Amino acid sequence: MRWENGTIQWGPRLRKVTVRRLYTFYMAGFGFEDLLDDVGTALYIRCSDILYLRDARERGWRCLPCESRSDAVGPGPRMETTGRRDPHFPNYENELFACPACGWEFSWGAMRNTFRNKQLHSGGAVDAFEGFVKSWPAVVGDVHAKMRAVDMLIHSFHYSLRSEPDLPVRAAGVNLIEGRLKDVLAFLDALSADRHDETADQWRKERRKQRW
Ligand SMILES: [Zn+2]
Repeated sequence: MRWENGTIQWGPRLRKVTVRRLYTFYMAGFGFEDLLDDVGTALYIRCSDILYLRDARERGWRCLPCESRSDAVGPGPRMETTGRRDPHFPNYENELFACPACGWEFSWGAMRNTFRNKQLHSGGAVDAFEGFVKSWPAVVGDVHAKMRAVDMLIHSFHYSLRSEPDLPVRAAGVNLIEGRLKDVLAFLDALSADRHDETADQWRKERRKQRW
């Protein structure tokens, strides 16, 4: 899903109105199944993109055209440095990479322009994103398990990996739902305000710890 018609398409964040509609219909108990599938699939793509970029930062880029072929059987091959430079970008980001299988190439600067300011950084919420990518395909056929997976993901947090591992440093919802941090927090507060299940209680508990 990330490679379409020769361009990179990162999965977009969800609109608040879509998420609110899903919760309203789910609470009412009918007419939510298709919307739940749409939202869950969008989140699955979004989390996969976040994890793709994390893997690229840590281990090197994988070829998107190869990975997106209909007959692809796994992740694309790792891109290799070509020793050539892209004149459109300054020194630190002009290195050109190429796929050893299909020859697709890009510079670090060109790639970064595709995801800049798109809230695709995994930060300290890798467990939440990975957990959803693993659980979503496994809950097929169980609408309540699907809804729980979506609910848990959008109410999850980034944690500092260093000095205070239990301190939430940011809501992961900002990576998944459109809007500024303040707006997304208010939206998620409202979404869980009248509930007393585990996810809602956990959300309030972590929100009370916050310093941001
Ligand atoms: Zn390739």
